Amino acid sequence: MDKEIRKIGVLTSGGDAPGMNAAIRAVVRKSIVNGLEVVGIERGFLGLLNEEIFEMNKRSVSDIIQQGGTILGTARCHEFREEEVQEQAAQICRKHGIDGIVVIGGDGSYRGAQALARHGINTIGIPGTIDLDIACTDYTIGFDTAINTAMQAIDKVRDTSSSHERCSIIEVMGRGAGYIALWCGMANGAEDILIPETYDYDEQRIVDNIINNRKHGKKHHIIINAEGIGHSTSMARRIEAATGIETRATILGYMQRGGSPSCKDRFYASIMGAYAADIISQGKSNRVVAYKNGEFCDFDIEEALAMTKKIPDYQYEVALELSR
Ligand code: ATP
Repeated sequence: MDKEIRKIGVLTSGGDAPGMNAAIRAVVRKSIVNGLEVVGIERGFLGLLNEEIFEMNKRSVSDIIQQGGTILGTARCHEFREEEVQEQAAQICRKHGIDGIVVIGGDGSYRGAQALARHGINTIGIPGTIDLDIACTDYTIGFDTAINTAMQAIDKVRDTSSSHERCSIIEVMGRGAGYIALWCGMANGAEDILIPETYDYDEQRIVDNIINNRKHGKKHHIIINAEGIGHSTSMARRIEAATGIETRATILGYMQRGGSPSCKDRFYASIMGAYAADIISQGKSNRVVAYKNGEFCDFDIEEALAMTKKIPDYQYEVALELSR
């Protein structure tokens, strides 16, 4: 028989993402509606090990839905990969009467959740990352805000780039995944989109493209470069030398992570948080909440981590075709 769930914890782990607060709010309030006690755990798995645990009620999450970042704080905790550390964390949960934990974060955080489940603590994951790089879900909390923040910044760079007839390399976040680059590339009409999944390091092709576009009357050339490729400043120097066209690099960096979450992020985070609260109160464990093919659903963490997804070739090709 499933164990009875009376008290749950909620934590955020990995990189912060706008909308995490809306998810925390939903987990707390829906769990209370479901008759559970709730504690907040600060600084992810690190805070759990340090017993940074505090009681939460409906008012603990007042006035946070519009705030970026995470009120619980987040941290990387490398020792959580060790079996004895995981067992210690499970013991701490038992000591505090915590029957289950909702973990809001990325793939790495799910592995931590999976480890806790193995040690007898029920866990549910919620996809919180601006990178959209979680295979089991078509949506991750923070992506919508991040792409809109980046898009608006790129529009501004584009204005000055056109006025000065420059080439601009704009580096967006995405270490292993090019979703932010693809979406901004499409939305900002970039002439080149360099993503870690497909980039072949053929700079001559980019140079030829810039020269060709110039011949056909283009006043600017926007290159969106994903963080996973990087080296935007040195790339700008090489391209300027090869084309004779003034080329500038702009690295958007952490400004893409912060800021008030978009309506879409708040909405999806609220549903995902409530969904996690519902399934954890039903005794489910080792599951991750997802949005797939238009529906909110959940998957076994093992199964979710084994899934793969790739940038759709058609979307990438269209983004480039439309900017020529
Ligand atoms: P982001 O996508 O923002 O990087 P993430 O959740 O993937 O988010 P990670 O740094 O990979 O970020 O993982 C967050 C935390 O999850 C780690 O600091 C660690 O505490 C825990 N974790 C990661 N991998 C494992 C693992 N294999 N076993 C146990 N815990 C893990």
